[in-house]
Amino acid sequence: MTIKLYEKDVYQKRTESRVLNVIHDKEKTLLVLDQTIFFPEGGGQPSDKGTIGDSQVIHVSEKDGVIYHHVDKEPEGEFHVCELDWNRRFDHMQQHCGEHILSGVILEALGYMNKGFHLGEDYVTIDIDGDLSDTEQVKGIENLANKAIYENKPVITDTVNNAEKAIWYNVRKMPDLQENLRIVYIAGVDSVACCGTHPARTGEVGILKILKAQKYKGMTRLFFKCGLRALLEFQREHQIISELSVNYSADMSTILDKISKEKLKYYDLKNHYVKIQNALAALEADHLIDTIKHQRLILSFRDKTIEETGLIIKHILERESALILACSLPDKKVILAHDGKQDIDCGKLIKENIHGFSGNGGGNKHRGQATFEDINELGSFVQHINNILSIE
Ligand SMILES: [Zn+2]
Repeated sequence: MTIKLYEKDVYQKRTESRVLNVIHDKEKTLLVLDQTIFFPEGGGQPSDKGTIGDSQVIHVSEKDGVIYHHVDKEPEGEFHVCELDWNRRFDHMQQHCGEHILSGVILEALGYMNKGFHLGEDYVTIDIDGDLSDTEQVKGIENLANKAIYENKPVITDTVNNAEKAIWYNVRKMPDLQENLRIVYIAGVDSVACCGTHPARTGEVGILKILKAQKYKGMTRLFFKCGLRALLEFQREHQIISELSVNYSADMSTILDKISKEKLKYYDLKNHYVKIQNALAALEADHLIDTIKHQRLILSFRDKTIEETGLIIKHILERESALILACSLPDKKVILAHDGKQDIDCGKLIKENIHGFSGNGGGNKHRGQATFEDINELGSFVQHINNILSIE
C-alpha cells in the first residue's frame, strides 16, 4: 500500500519515492510508488501533476486502494525524486476549502444542502437544494464565507474509527460509518467527510467570489472562484471596466448611467436612419417603376446593401404588379420577388436552380434570396434565372 504523504503533510512539495510496479496498459504507462506526494483525483478534486525523475505526471488515479501515477514515459531506475506542481495543488486547496466554507455557511444560514461539487479548470460549482435567486441573499452568503476566511480558522483533518466521535463532529453528509473516516472540520463553519487536500487555515483561501447563481434541476448552481483565481478574475474585469470608463469618459459611479443614455441615443438614431432609408427607397422606387416591361424588372445595385435593395423592391411592389430580380453587388446577394399575383414560386425556383453554382438560397412563394461568395457566380446565376423567366 502506497503511503499517502499528502495526507500527512499537505505542504510537502518534494520527496524521493521507490517504484514498486510499472504497468503498461494500452497506450498508458502507470507507476505504483512506495510513497507519494501526488493526490489522486477524487471527491470532486482533480489530480495533482508534477514529475517523477524525468517523467511527467499527467494524471493520478486511485482504484481499489492502489494509487496509479500516469506518466508520459517510464523512468529509468528504481528511486526517483518526485516534484509536485505546487501552483496547481495550492489552487486546488484554495478552491476546495472555499467549497467547504461556502457549503457550511449556506447550511447554517439557510438550511440548504450542497448536493454536488465540481472543481473545473476555470471555475468551481456547487449545487444547492434550495432557491438562491435573490442577489442580496447571495451577497449575504458571500460575505459570511469571506468572514470565515478572515477569521483564519484552523482547518482540522481527523481520521476517526468510532461512531461516537463521528457523531460529535456533526458532519453535514453522514456517510456509512467506515474505518478511517476522514473528517475535515472548521469550527463554527463546516464539518464533512472528505478525502481532498485543504490548507491549514481558512485565511489561505484568500477570498471567495460568487460569480453567478443559476437554476439547475430544481436546485441552484453557484459558480465561484477563490484565492488567486478570484484575484485574476477581478484584474480581468477591472481592466474591462477601466477601458470602458476611458471610452465613455466616465468613472465607476457614472458609467452605467452613461451607457444607458448612449443606448437610448443609439435607438433614436437608428429609428431616424430607418425613416430616411425608407424615404430614399421610395424615391428610388418612383424612378424605377417606369422601367418595368411586361411585369418584369431586373436590377443590379453597385452601392446598395441587400436591406436597401429589399426596401426598394417592397416600395415598387406596393404600387405595381411585377416580378423583380435584383442583386446587391456589395453583399453578393440576389432577391427574386413578386407582388403575389404571379404564378411563380420564388423560393422554390432559387432552391432548384442554385445547384451547379457556388451559393446557397431559398425562401417562400413571394420572395426568395440567394447568397454567393464569388461575384462571377452571382452574375452567372442571375443570367440563368433571367433566361428561365425571360426578364428583359
Ligand atoms: Zn474537502
